[in-house]
Amino acid sequence: MTLQVPYQLFKYERFKTNPVRVGNLTIGGNSPIVLQSMCNTSTSDVKASVAQAKEIFNAGGEMIRYTVIHQKDAEALREIREELNKDGYNQPIVADVHFNAELANIAAKYVEKVRINPGNFIDKRAKFETKEYTDIKWNEELLKVEKKLVELIHICKENKTALRIGTNHGSLSDRIMSRYGNTVEGMVEATMEFLRICKKENFEHVVVSLKSSNVKVMVTAYRNIVSVMHKENMHYPLHLGVTEAGNGLSGRIKSAAGIGALLNDGLGDTIRVSLTENPSREIPVAQSIIKHFANRNDKATAQPTDIKYDPFSISQRTIETSTDIQTKHPAVVIDLRHLEEINECDIEALGYKKSSDKWEPSRRAAEYAFANTTKINTFAPEGFKFLYESYLDGKPCKRTAPILTRAEYLKLYKLTRLKEKWVYLRLNELTDEMVGILNDDNHVVIILETTHPHGTADQRSFFMHMAQHNLKHPVIIKRNYVEEDATQMAIKAAADIAPLLTDGFGNGIWLTNPFITDAKIVHEISFEILQATRARSTSTEFIACPSCGRTQFDIEKVLEEVKDRTKHLYHLKIGVMGCLVNGPGEMADADYGYVGAAKDKVSLYKGKTQVRKNIPAANAVDELIDLIKTNGDWIDK
Ligand code: SF4
Repeated sequence: MTLQVPYQLFKYERFKTNPVRVGNLTIGGNSPIVLQSMCNTSTSDVKASVAQAKEIFNAGGEMIRYTVIHQKDAEALREIREELNKDGYNQPIVADVHFNAELANIAAKYVEKVRINPGNFIDKRAKFETKEYTDIKWNEELLKVEKKLVELIHICKENKTALRIGTNHGSLSDRIMSRYGNTVEGMVEATMEFLRICKKENFEHVVVSLKSSNVKVMVTAYRNIVSVMHKENMHYPLHLGVTEAGNGLSGRIKSAAGIGALLNDGLGDTIRVSLTENPSREIPVAQSIIKHFANRNDKATAQPTDIKYDPFSISQRTIETSTDIQTKHPAVVIDLRHLEEINECDIEALGYKKSSDKWEPSRRAAEYAFANTTKINTFAPEGFKFLYESYLDGKPCKRTAPILTRAEYLKLYKLTRLKEKWVYLRLNELTDEMVGILNDDNHVVIILETTHPHGTADQRSFFMHMAQHNLKHPVIIKRNYVEEDATQMAIKAAADIAPLLTDGFGNGIWLTNPFITDAKIVHEISFEILQATRARSTSTEFIACPSCGRTQFDIEKVLEEVKDRTKHLYHLKIGVMGCLVNGPGEMADADYGYVGAAKDKVSLYKGKTQVRKNIPAANAVDELIDLIKTNGDWIDK
């Protein structure tokens, strides 16, 4: 099969895009990846907006965006630009405009870049209703878009202003949704309509984004737009971001997962990490992600001759095994080899609770622990196994599986028919001999390791080789880090492993780090990576916007309260969004939503339907919980 992928799958190489000049810096071409953020001040409050921009620039941000809601915001941009210039802050500023093409025309005169959203530039805001558009009606609407966009392009040309065509999953227009639904295909078509107009107008100063709060959707959307642009001879640079990633460790992991997945493919020319925190706190996260890919060796990994891999759709690898490993969702392996003996507290750290003479698993119970001792002073929970290396003198306990090196496996496989053995393998060890043996042995769980400088591509290629040889064994993705800081390890691991999980690869993950052996920390990072990629949902998924000038409440505080009271509702996705304008659409597939409606007023949503309107903010979290209870979705902690 000839796979048409315009970017590199087997070595690290930045995908070639057109350089787009934005003020004093360049996005795309051979330029380094640009790091940007967004102010959450009211834009017309010039003093606060300038102060926050300086804070972000001082933290290392290279470009800053402001929301433009009213004419006074658009006009304030001129003053903000002047104030920043006066103090030597010449970095580009960007206007973020929704629902009002006229405001984009004004802002384009004062700033270096304008972001518009195809979902609401001209088309009506999606009401999530099914409507029929005849071809005539469709083309009429498209002509209206073209007329307004050409007007904006002319202003941009005159003022040397760049444009971002910024599509978001969840804010597609009714017109696009009527034909494509709220899908990746719809996101791509909505974007391409605008890009085709830009191309027709010979306007090259365009950057493209297709964001989503769902990492799988986001990764697939960017890959698809790259493929479609390539076919239409377009080379616009990409702005990457996961929307509504939330805060804390989960927000950092979700951002690193989505952005990292694409940077692994060489895609992405500028990034924004969106956190529901002070925007300057986004910068170190973005820096860590970029640093992880900086100076990456371009050594290629081995390619299969027959590539059975589709990066453009969301799919799951098929498993066939005679081992005990469950294949419903990826398992978690925790390394306890540093322990000389294993006690009850060590099992608790893996997500279990002792109740009389039984271990009760939590939603986040790890299934495996790697032990290097036979001194285990408690019994193993049901469904849990200790993994041990074959040289260990005796089995740690009854619930075990041995781990073999490739050499041990080659020696032993004929002598013993173990029901389950785990075997370390790397891509270069998947030789014809090994393929032949594995084809005859369905009792193996593969522990996939890599030492390749582009480890994700190397491990992905392993899965492609397995597909080529029709090997359906379960595979645990193992990555080893040497990091003193847990957040740095989390960001790297998310960027490395998420692409494989979003591709539907992997039946478990195993992270090691000689500096971080605390099982609780590694356990949290592992489960957050699985959560971020929706490979395994074990806690409530919070979809929270980073806030902007439209937010009229303390979203950080509210998010913390909502999290605290609902984090055990693992079966739900809960949105906490700053405004009614974009919030309901952009919280995408949230089951419930807390959306800022006006000062001290909140509206609550069940799915896409507003069910409680303008309730006082003071008791809105109580009302949200009441709403969840009324709908029968509440469970006690
Ligand atoms: S949803 Fe949040 S970030 Fe988006 S426009 Fe509304 S307040 Fe701003």
